Amino acid sequence: MRPIPYGRQNITEADIQAVVETLQSDFLTQGPKVEEFEQKFAQYIGSKYAVAVTNGTAALHLCALVLGVNEQSNVITTPITFAASANCVRYCGGTIWFADIDPATGLLDIDKVKALLESKPKNFFSGIIPVDFAGMPVNLEAFRALANAYNLWLLEDACHAPGGYFVDSKGVKQNCGNGDFADLAIFSFHPVKHIATGEGGMITTNNQDFYKKLLLLRTHGITKNPELLHQNPGGWYYEMQDLGYNYRIPDILTSLGISQLSNAAADLVQRHHIAQRYDQAFKNLKNVTILNPEAYQEKNTDGHAYHLYIIQVPDRKGLYDYLRQHQIFTQVHYIPVHTMPYYQGLGWQTGDFPLAEKYYEHCLSLPMYPTLTAQEQQHVIDKILEFIDRT
Ligand SMILES: *Cc1c(COP(=O)(O)O)cnc(C)c1O
Repeated sequence: MRPIPYGRQNITEADIQAVVETLQSDFLTQGPKVEEFEQKFAQYIGSKYAVAVTNGTAALHLCALVLGVNEQSNVITTPITFAASANCVRYCGGTIWFADIDPATGLLDIDKVKALLESKPKNFFSGIIPVDFAGMPVNLEAFRALANAYNLWLLEDACHAPGGYFVDSKGVKQNCGNGDFADLAIFSFHPVKHIATGEGGMITTNNQDFYKKLLLLRTHGITKNPELLHQNPGGWYYEMQDLGYNYRIPDILTSLGISQLSNAAADLVQRHHIAQRYDQAFKNLKNVTILNPEAYQEKNTDGHAYHLYIIQVPDRKGLYDYLRQHQIFTQVHYIPVHTMPYYQGLGWQTGDFPLAEKYYEHCLSLPMYPTLTAQEQQHVIDKILEFIDRT
């Protein structure tokens, strides 16, 4: 049996053909494929606007800029996420605060956020960055209400959740990243994510001012749009109106993204099948805890985007090593961000967020990707059961 990773891209013949066509076209970058990808992605997610960029981290950085993060800003996120969710605030000189997770879901606990907000003077905080961790959608309706009460912005890190949704209090399906509750949302097209372009990212929003600012900042703060220019002496003329970056994604990659996007819904169905088989295999084992609260399952698991399938076991390192010996390469998501040496250097300490740290001691992300075969998955399950029996 071939080695089994925890995540893997699914590149089809049509994907390859799409890239070849772009290579043979007039545009390798800044051509028509960027806008086409943005429009189709916005349609998939249900947002008004989408802005494609070089990667998810650049997307986070641009969002922090348009939200006005600066040295005075205090922003809250979860310790159980990829470091970039927090780093974007640091890029702009702001201060990151963490609040602990709900151990049943692994998501940022809104009650812990509330307690943190109450512990400081009004207007101390400027925003919250919730993460749809593992593909489980955050209840952004609840976060919006909290954000409104404290005059905060919301930036949804939806890297794990394209195609995911939660059902709001009116019974409406709210797609991750649709901009109904969060001011901005971001996605990544790293090969382990749902849609792969190699490197790539997307920002979605319903806010036209943010959208215009993002377009400008993505390309050096430079515009050639006649409607925006202060003067227009000739066809060569452009203006740098703000300090921006080169965060442009090339047409080579967005053509791959367009083709990948056309498979996204079918791939998501595949992820659900895989999750159901894992659920079935583990549900009666007292030494395996599924990171899916029963409460959530009763309500709805249809909206879960299953970027990751995470279990918690007593001897995580033992299981990780055992599976490795059998060519099954699981992963740990995540080492709590506040325990990273960089963040410890800013004053955070191990012990600050006990629930996140306890979760980290036991969590393991199992193979989860659309091309994982039923036979391969059964092999993974068998090896886990073998190990669990022996302990
Ligand atoms: C992957 C990821 C990012 C960063 O995306 P890149 O495209 O790798 O820069 C940010 N946040 C989360 C939660 C992620 O999983």
